[in-house]
Amino acid sequence: MAGFYTSNGWVTIRARQLAREPICRGCERKRAREVDHIKPISEGGAARDPSNLQSLCRGCHRAKTNVQRRGLVWVADKHRGCDANGYPLDPAHPWNASSASLNAADDVGRSITSASRAGTVRPSNR
Ligand SMILES: [Zn+2]
Repeated sequence: MAGFYTSNGWVTIRARQLAREPICRGCERKRAREVDHIKPISEGGAARDPSNLQSLCRGCHRAKTNVQRRGLVWVADKHRGCDANGYPLDPAHPWNASSASLNAADDVGRSITSASRAGTVRPSNR
C-alpha cells in the first residue's frame, strides 16, 4: 500500500481533500494535515472516492487508527457523550438514526454493539 500513498493520483486527491476541508473533522479545531479513509481500504473502503475521505489532524487520525486496529468504532471527541437530555451526540448512534434505518434491525443491532464497545453507550437507568 506504500506505493499507493506516494502515487501521483493519491497526492492530487489528498491535496484536493485538504483544500476542500482544511479543518480536522474529528475535533473541528486543528488544521487538518492528513487525509483519512473513513472506511479503511483494508476493509473494502474506496481508495479514491471523495465521499470516503475526511481531513483529520494528526492526533485524531492516530486515535482513529488505534481504535480501528482494536476492531472498535472511532467516535470523534465532539460526538462523545450526551446532551442535556441524555441523548447521544454521535449522529451515527442508533438513537439518532432515521426511522428508515431503524427498520433495518440487523444494522441497528450491529451499531449498538459497536458503539457499546467503543465506550459511547452507558447503561441507562430508565
Ligand atoms: Zn483533530
